[in-house]
Amino acid sequence: MKKKEIKKMIKRARKLAEPFRVTDDKFRLKDIDPDDTLDLTSEDKPRAKEALANGIELLAELQDRLYAQDSWAMLLIFQAMDAAGKDGAIKHVMSGINPQGCQVFSFKSPSSEDLDHDYLWRCMKSMPERGRIGIFNRSYYEETLVVRVHKEFLEKQKVPPELVSKDIWEERFQDIRTFERYLSRNGVCVLKFFLHVSKKEQKKRFLERIEEPEKNWKFSANDAKERQYWDDYMEAYEDMIRNTASKAAPWYVVPADNKWFTRVVVGAAIIAALDDLDLKYPKVGDSKLKDLAAAKKGLLAD
Ligand code: ATP
Ligand code: MG
Repeated sequence: MKKKEIKKMIKRARKLAEPFRVTDDKFRLKDIDPDDTLDLTSEDKPRAKEALANGIELLAELQDRLYAQDSWAMLLIFQAMDAAGKDGAIKHVMSGINPQGCQVFSFKSPSSEDLDHDYLWRCMKSMPERGRIGIFNRSYYEETLVVRVHKEFLEKQKVPPELVSKDIWEERFQDIRTFERYLSRNGVCVLKFFLHVSKKEQKKRFLERIEEPEKNWKFSANDAKERQYWDDYMEAYEDMIRNTASKAAPWYVVPADNKWFTRVVVGAAIIAALDDLDLKYPKVGDSKLKDLAAAKKGLLAD
């Protein structure tokens, strides 16, 4: 890719991601319309897809530098209601990436081994190595979402009862903020995505999963049950985002009623963040240059 072209793409990526970036406690969920596509209409869809394809090429190039430099790591966290498109977004945005430089972990209901530890334990074991992009499909944020909406999960966690007070959610936010600051101070760049789908669009996607045989496997009866707690979830999401958004670890609240738009914004945010790291291929020193020259001479004489 030409330098000029890269510069233009990065500028466009910043502009696309910026409106959805949350870094402080002023955030209100109702300010983000799940159906928003900025100034792009459905006629722009093919163009957006093309932009995504180019973006994926650029992402691959940036990741190559991240890997070569072997210093920064990137952690991408995806949270959403069911059928918001987490899996699809992860699949598309990461499609051009060298698998060696990428690690994906899905966090489901905790196992009995997980429950024998503090809640960050299972996530800490899965942190990306330097030079890698780590993806969390759900994360420790479930501890302030599903566990908050369904208090019975909290009871199963075996935390000493005297430590479970009415301040537990505020305490969890505080611990998560501190943890993410620790990560950022260690060179782990944390980005968090909430794919914000509307209740109406979720219903449509659930019905598709029921009606189309190839999609049946994606549907579980429990997904429909969780839908009844929609308002509780939205409240929990808003509170979580307000309390854990920071400049070092921003939330991106991405409209998710149009999958093509979601993917473009997610890709753009990752490109912008990688560009912020100012990644460069490591420069080799004089002695290494001498080694290279000697090796070349040897090979040519061979
Ligand atoms: P999909 O349904 O698209 O395959 P998913 O991420 O929804 O993907 P599920 O198999 O449905 O995967 O499992 C995730 C479930 O695990 C969610 O309902 C989530 O709320 C739950 N879960 C994740 N972390 C926790 C936790 N710490 N405590 C309790 N439940 C959790
Ligand atoms: Mg599910």
